Amino acid sequence: MLSTSASGTAASSPSRFGSTALLLAAFLGGITSYSIGSLARASPTISSGSRTPTFGTPADFQRAITELRAIFPASRISTNPDVLHAHGFSLNTYHPGAPHSVVISVESTEEVSGIVKVASKWRMPITAYSGGTSLEGGFAAHPRGGICVDLSGMDKIIKINEADSDLVCQAGARWDDINETLRDKGVPLFFPLDPAPGATIGGMIATGCSGTNAVRYGTAKAEWFLNVTVVLPSGEVIKTRRRARKSSAGFDTTKLFIGAEGTLGIVTEATIRLAPLLPTNVAVAQFPDVRKATEAVGEILNKGVPIQCIELCDDVFMHATNNYGISTRKYPERDSLFFKFQGSPESIAESARVVDEIVRAHGGSGLELAKSEKEAVDLWADRKAAHFSGLALVPGSRGWGTDVCVPVSRLPDLVYETKKDLEESGLVSTIVGHVGDGNFHSLILFKTDEELEAVRGAVHRMVERAIRLDGTCTGEHGVGIGKKEYLYEELGTGTVELMKLIKRTIDPLGIFNPGKVVAHPARLELECLQSSNTPDICSFIQMTLQHSLMVESIPEG
Ligand SMILES: Cc1cc2nc3c(=O)[nH]c(=O)nc-3n(C[C@H](O)[C@H](O)[C@H](O)COP(=O)(O)OP(=O)(O)OC[C@H]3O[C@@H](n4cnc5c(N)ncnc54)[C@H](O)[C@@H]3O)c2cc1C
Repeated sequence: MLSTSASGTAASSPSRFGSTALLLAAFLGGITSYSIGSLARASPTISSGSRTPTFGTPADFQRAITELRAIFPASRISTNPDVLHAHGFSLNTYHPGAPHSVVISVESTEEVSGIVKVASKWRMPITAYSGGTSLEGGFAAHPRGGICVDLSGMDKIIKINEADSDLVCQAGARWDDINETLRDKGVPLFFPLDPAPGATIGGMIATGCSGTNAVRYGTAKAEWFLNVTVVLPSGEVIKTRRRARKSSAGFDTTKLFIGAEGTLGIVTEATIRLAPLLPTNVAVAQFPDVRKATEAVGEILNKGVPIQCIELCDDVFMHATNNYGISTRKYPERDSLFFKFQGSPESIAESARVVDEIVRAHGGSGLELAKSEKEAVDLWADRKAAHFSGLALVPGSRGWGTDVCVPVSRLPDLVYETKKDLEESGLVSTIVGHVGDGNFHSLILFKTDEELEAVRGAVHRMVERAIRLDGTCTGEHGVGIGKKEYLYEELGTGTVELMKLIKRTIDPLGIFNPGKVVAHPARLELECLQSSNTPDICSFIQMTLQHSLMVESIPEG
């Protein structure tokens, strides 16, 4: 079987795969008309992973744990099987999980740095864990085990700079706690990125998250993080920049860690930007179908109406909400849009008038604006309860939640084709989407292993469909283990190889969250080649790559 090793790469001699890749690059370079998608675009200066990380032996790992036990009090270091399991598996994912060898609860940047130095000495994988809400297997241990650094206790707000609309906090601070603290202190500001309740600033940075507010405030990849303090794989601590609102001083190294999922560094502190807390109100409208709803969204966005959120909920979701939602309200069971407007009451009334006109022009039912604060809270709570209302549709079922994202105008095709596919597969699923961004989530239900396999197939086809529609395999959940096989197809070899080059440079031992985000090149290049339309050249390259993989053993990854 071919290895699925991560990026990683650090031992002492170049592998045969590396030399083969160079030979192939030279071969491909001579074929001017040749175009097999991403492989042909690979830069010759960014070569495929040429070194394989060699982790320490089980005895080395035991030595590392002994050293760590000498540093940490017994209450903060654990090899209890239940604790190891809880930090390596998630009820929210169905990707292969694995228990860590040891879990350490940290309290400071210095402690994280100390652990990294031990991990590096014994070449032991090291994975950060914060809120534990991520959905793509990001915090699962490496199959060989490793150290899990639990940052959930580093949850302090260090300083609120109200005059500058920013806040300095530790990486384990949860976004919902931050907003509650600001509210309790009477500070009229909030942090607008809103993934799962309980998600932390460190995990949100690592996954490049967003949520319902992204239509107004953008994602983690916008400028919500002014700086981050990071422990690098060398154990060195860096702070990426100061607190000024903007800076054009060199590369944007803060962004390097956004979406890196702990593969380049462990974030221990951050300065986050805050937004003014404005009055909001909520409304709902029904449409004949998703296409009409999405067309209305495009027009509303282009009118510049001050909208904080636009959420699409399909008819199945509305049915689930009628039965299991938080409020007692009964909704028409049709494809619907939920809106959150912001501004003064007069401005909201004007926004609602404009949106109502557009909704009706697209065959919609007309907009129902909440008439009281309680009604607004109830409406939004029903939307936010999507996960649990969906699960309740099939008692005793489990749900596979996943996301993809396409340009807004392509969303109807994606939703239509996906719903048809799910129906044909006999699977029950609800669909909700941050439709203002073209971001689409489905929660697909299953009870048996057979159904789980059917779900896995449906998710794969959904991702392929999104990429075909010029979209992405993940709009906000990140890559983890679950989406890494799609990166070559989506981003192209040159871009993925650039990521690997950065990974190799920063983490030469390959110990930071190995096996996540970037996959081993060989297997994916084979897959990429299989789907190309140049069979002769492909079979030559396949043969060569397969040969190189057969003669080389790649134990880790
Ligand atoms: C019901 C539900 C709803 C959700 N809704 C949304 C949504 O609307 N939008 C959205 O974007 N996501 C959503 N998510 C996914 C999840 O909330 C996000 O991915 C979130 O950003 C994860 O943060 P966390 O603190 O839980 O990270 P974790 O799950 O602890 O970790 C995530 C990844 O980051 C790494 N990591 C953790 N901490 C650090 C650190 N300090 N430094 C470096 N690496 C680190 C981990 O190793 C792992 O790879 C939802 C999940 C659930 C269960």
